[in-house]
Amino acid sequence: MSSQIRYVFAPAPPASAAIRGSIERFPVQRIYCVGRNYEEHAKEMGFTGREAPFFFLKPANALLSAAEGETVRLPYPSLTQNLHHEVELVVAIGLGGTRIAAADAAHHIFGYAVGLDMTRRDLQNDMKKQGRPWSIGKAFDHSAPIGPITPAALAGDVARAEIVLEVNGVARQHSNTSQLIWSIPEIIEHVSAAWELRAGDLIYTGTPQGVAAVVPGDRLQATASGLAPLYVQVV
Ligand code: MN
Repeated sequence: MSSQIRYVFAPAPPASAAIRGSIERFPVQRIYCVGRNYEEHAKEMGFTGREAPFFFLKPANALLSAAEGETVRLPYPSLTQNLHHEVELVVAIGLGGTRIAAADAAHHIFGYAVGLDMTRRDLQNDMKKQGRPWSIGKAFDHSAPIGPITPAALAGDVARAEIVLEVNGVARQHSNTSQLIWSIPEIIEHVSAAWELRAGDLIYTGTPQGVAAVVPGDRLQATASGLAPLYVQVV
């Protein structure tokens, strides 16, 4: 008797992200996202910027991974008239754990990337008004573009990285990760208090001010100093 599991159909391969300077890929488990983690963005969304961190998730297969230098094509999603960009620093977890203290967080980090938390803002706002889950606004297919992951040892000072999003060559979002309300180690402490973090988890750490709409044909360039850029074309 074989103990090998037999599936009724072939399971999909895991979602994965490119790694800078490597042919190996980073297999993705879950995608956590932090809401409102820059004060100026919290204010532009109508909040004070002083709340405890909160989280939502996207399915792993919402990932849209770009290889080094590649421009990935992002299909304009259905049901929306207001697709927003949110440029974010992404943390890639290489070692899981629960109740990870902020002081120990670095040990759990594989690397960093720049990503986009794409948002169907009109649908998200409808759900907010009704007190319903954000999934339809946040967790749609291809909603999580990500650039190549830079291993932590090769990344710059991610706690003080300039983070920029340009659309068609014009800056829309421009901030610095030093402006994060909750730092990367603090985010890891909070997430791992609520879930057991696993190797392969990604955490999108929140977006600075300047979120706005894109339309088909737009070319996006997301950068964070010390990390590989992300290039996206909306199609
Ligand atoms: Mn976001």
